[in-house]
This record gives sequence, structure tokens and C-alpha cells, in this order.
Amino acid sequence: MLNSVKALKVSLGTMMRRKVTAEYPDEHLPLQDRFMGFPALTWDEARDEPFCTGCMVCVRYCPTQCMSAQMTDNPKFADGDSHRKKIIETFEINLGRCILCAICVDVCNFDAIEMSTEHERSERLRDANRVDLPALLEMGKAYQEESSWKQSKPNAASPKEKEAIAAAKAAKEAAAEAEAASETESMAPESGDAGDTPEQPETQSVTRPEAQQENST
Ligand code: SF4
Ligand code: SF4
Repeated sequence: MLNSVKALKVSLGTMMRRKVTAEYPDEHLPLQDRFMGFPALTWDEARDEPFCTGCMVCVRYCPTQCMSAQMTDNPKFADGDSHRKKIIETFEINLGRCILCAICVDVCNFDAIEMSTEHERSERLRDANRVDLPALLEMGKAYQEESSWKQSKPNAASPKEKEAIAAAKAAKEAAAEAEAASETESMAPESGDAGDTPEQPETQSVTRPEAQQENST
């Protein structure tokens, strides 16, 4: 009898306990702070292009070898609009093989890849988790927006920006030189101003007394 009461108490306590699971996929639990989903590529709003240069460092370090990338010449660099000589052309991650280790993020020197909050990748086909460049950039843009992401260091100057900086510097130096020249001119004496020139003694013709005597005889 006593045991039955104890069992009933346990059962009632379990029934009254707050639910910790969700009816997935109809219900989604909120993500915890610092939750790490799949890696995604970030987008440089200032240059309107990906941060990724296709340097392949992450590809080489990925322990599951689920990444591949290919770089190309950046046409925006040729136009002077970007500081990136190279840019990513194709990029693929097989998210079915990704173990979310974040090594790719740690080794990237260009702020180009982040662990996003994307984690729902249930697919029916074996290859459906091979995610290409546009999809990775979409994931990255969504992550940047929801996390107010900021790049760790400012972009280097593009060729056009470098020209503008050099022109502004040259204009500033020319203005400083012109100012210095005008200051020197204003300190120099005006022509015809006798203020600083010493007075010249008047020239007089002096006749010696002996010469005056000779002239009179
Ligand atoms: S994500 Fe970073 S490390 Fe990987 S290829 Fe792009 S720039 Fe290189
Ligand atoms: S998180 Fe790890 S396993 Fe996944 S792509 Fe990056 S380096 Fe590879």
C-alpha cells in the first residue's frame, strides 16, 4: 500500500513537471546564446561582394575534407572598386559531413566564414546537403543580419580610394606650400619703402684752399 502511494506520487510529480521537449518540426525551441550551427560565408556590404578570396586555407585545414573552393581574378579590382585581387568563384561545403568544429572559422584570415545558427538540414537525398556558394552566402547574410555581425578589421583601400587619398594629400600639401609662400611674401618689405634702408650721405664737392688761391692769381 505504502509503495503504491509512493509510485503514485512519483507519477504525479513527473506529470506536473515542465516540458523540456518540443513537437518538432511544428514547434522550435529558442536557440541558446553562442549556439553554433553550420558554417556560412559572409558578405561585404561595403564592396558588395563576398569576403572570401578563395585562398583555400580552410579547405586544407578541414578535418573531414568536406569543403572545396576555387578562386578567380576579381573584376572589381581591375575596375579599381575593390582591394581584393582574387575572389571566390565556386565554394561548396558538404554539410552532411561537417562536424561543426569551427576550424575553418579559426583559420580564415579574411572574416569570410562564420558558424551561423543554421542547423535544420534534414534532407531526403544523399547529396542534398552539398551547399554551394549562393546558398552559403544566403546563410551568411541571414546570420550577419540576426547577429549584427561586424568584421574584425576595416577593409584596405581600393585602387580608386588610394588615388583619391593621394590626390587629397597632394592638394593638402599644395595648399600648405601656397600658404607658406604667401606668409613669406607678406613679411618681405615693399619696394619704395625707405623705412628699413639706411640714409645715404649727400655728395658735396669740396674745393681745397690752395686750388682757390691758384685760380684767383
Ligand atoms: S573562407 Fe577564408 S580561409 Fe576559406 S577560402 Fe575563403 S578566405 Fe580562404
Ligand atoms: S566546421 Fe569543421 S568540419 Fe565543418 S566545414 Fe568547417 S572545418 Fe570542416
